[in-house]
Amino acid sequence: MRFDLVTIFPEFFSGPLDHGILRRAREAGLVEVHVQDLRVFTKDRHRTVDDRPFGGGEGMVLKPEPLFEAVESLLGHGVGDAARQSPLDPGTTIVLMSAAGERFTQQTARRYASLERVIFICGRYEGVDERVAEHLATEEISIGDFVLSGGELPAALILDAVTRLLPGALGNEASSQNESFSETSSRHRDAAAEGEASPAPTRTEDSGLLGNYEQTANNHALLDYPHYTRPADYRGWSVPEVLIGGNHAEVAKWRRAAALEKTRRNRPDLLLPQ
Ligand code: SAH
Repeated sequence: MRFDLVTIFPEFFSGPLDHGILRRAREAGLVEVHVQDLRVFTKDRHRTVDDRPFGGGEGMVLKPEPLFEAVESLLGHGVGDAARQSPLDPGTTIVLMSAAGERFTQQTARRYASLERVIFICGRYEGVDERVAEHLATEEISIGDFVLSGGELPAALILDAVTRLLPGALGNEASSQNESFSETSSRHRDAAAEGEASPAPTRTEDSGLLGNYEQTANNHALLDYPHYTRPADYRGWSVPEVLIGGNHAEVAKWRRAAALEKTRRNRPDLLLPQ
């Protein structure tokens, strides 16, 4: 899979992409990351990428021409004009980072992970000429309800979330299927598999709990369950007994209940019908 980052700060990305899973995924050739300096596509002596807003108001706005030309050079073809817009390869998406965009979620990450290429346009200043959102980008995406000073951090964040979903990126494949916001259906599958391996009595109990869980969670993704590691007792704070006992069915049951409890406490909105 290939990621392109269009930015006025190309050096920004040396660092965030050079550690852990991202680094390994790049080294293994799972992902290719290309950082495109926007200023290469300016034509004046000052390499101007921004201009004053029409209609007045504060700040500067990123001009359309360098952005269109940068993306077209990455695509290897033009995107057209008002009279005729060229179609885009269905395996590619062009994402404009924007506080005013649609919200990025784990579901968006999964969708991107199934594509061949994601091109990120990183805004700066007051933002980007709206024609970029309307006629160049295929989607306008926000990483949350707050305003940052540029699209570079949001793009790096999305790149991270998508890369770890690619087959082979994580050491342990199960990790990305059984975590916060992973689909409840896969959790149910895991839980059912765990049930199979355990003695019959807990299985009945389990399915009762699952039914309840399903109802309460209304099939929306839950947060991850709490994790613990050694020492079992730290400053008098001890790990829940059930996790040490080695009864897999009991552990699974505790984890489901704890995930639900944590979701209720930290993200009650996830439990509401949408
Ligand atoms: N005037 C804009 C904010 C501009 S911030 C507004 O009020 O919506 C400058 C750039 O930072 C944006 O163009 C965008 O690329 C990036 N940015 C800021 N907040 C963001 C967010 N929550 N998600 C994604 N990108 C964001």
